[in-house]
Amino acid sequence: MTFTLRALLVAASATRVLASCAHGTFLRPRAEEGGAVQVGTFGYIGTIGPLNWAALETPANNACATGTRQSPIDMVEGVFTVLQGSDVQLTVNDMPAGAEFENLGTTVEIITQGGTLNVADKQFELQQFHFHLPSEHLDNGTSQAMEMHMVFQSAAQEIAVVGAYINIADAAPAAATKKRSSRINNNNRRQEAAAPPAAAAITPTTLLETIFSVVDQIATPGTKVTTPPLVMSEVVDLLKANAFQIYAGSLTTPPCSEGVSWHVSTARLGVTPASFTKVRDVIGFNARYPQNTPGQPNLLMISALGSAAAAVADAAAAAA
Ligand SMILES: [Zn+2]
Repeated sequence: MTFTLRALLVAASATRVLASCAHGTFLRPRAEEGGAVQVGTFGYIGTIGPLNWAALETPANNACATGTRQSPIDMVEGVFTVLQGSDVQLTVNDMPAGAEFENLGTTVEIITQGGTLNVADKQFELQQFHFHLPSEHLDNGTSQAMEMHMVFQSAAQEIAVVGAYINIADAAPAAATKKRSSRINNNNRRQEAAAPPAAAAITPTTLLETIFSVVDQIATPGTKVTTPPLVMSEVVDLLKANAFQIYAGSLTTPPCSEGVSWHVSTARLGVTPASFTKVRDVIGFNARYPQNTPGQPNLLMISALGSAAAAVADAAAAAA
């Protein structure tokens, strides 16, 4: 048993983790790839999943297990500040000749062709955007169908990410006025969720429909395709018309680096049920579990203490 565990750890730590949420940034420069799409060696299930990311590459990934400001989180009041979209300078260049769309094994990603985010006197340049299924952040305890991450980097190598939830578009506009029912929270107490304001129906976002129209052509990790022409103004306008929930967190993939400036939008993007099924069949599952409240101990450190206490108790019981 001891030997098996040690062999597993040695094998795991020898593996380089490549593709991640930081793909195309200074943390994972695209230039190293030499034109080929590099497939990630971490994953979301079993021993390459998020419970074991730190061991896949130490010490590079240590923050995954020890960091105290890890992402994603449950976006509940008190953990974020609100910034109106109209106060954020955000531009994303259209891609009239289409964009490169890659399957990194861990996500599907659009390589962008320019864009800026100006916030708090800092300028960030857009590198890429990619998708998670289901959403990584929780909207007041509730997971959403998908989440888009637009990854920006400053000249000083700081990272800012704009996150936007993606819902499945309503079949008929009338279905959107349904009241959200009460639900059970983590402490098993009944918690009355605030009924959302008569929410507008979720309509399909043209940008997403265009991108996902070719997602089945990159079903195999390591493949890429050129999308049809992409118009970004629809999404940019929607983001600016809503608010951003801001907090300091981390990359949601190895190396889980902290100091990431998160801007989670209150806007809702939409995909048709058919597009959702298509992209789900390619991505499968790629959401890291919700992390502890920012500033609180890493859940894996808490878990390690609990496991050690259980092992001691078991040993004591066996010796008795
Ligand atoms: Zn991401």
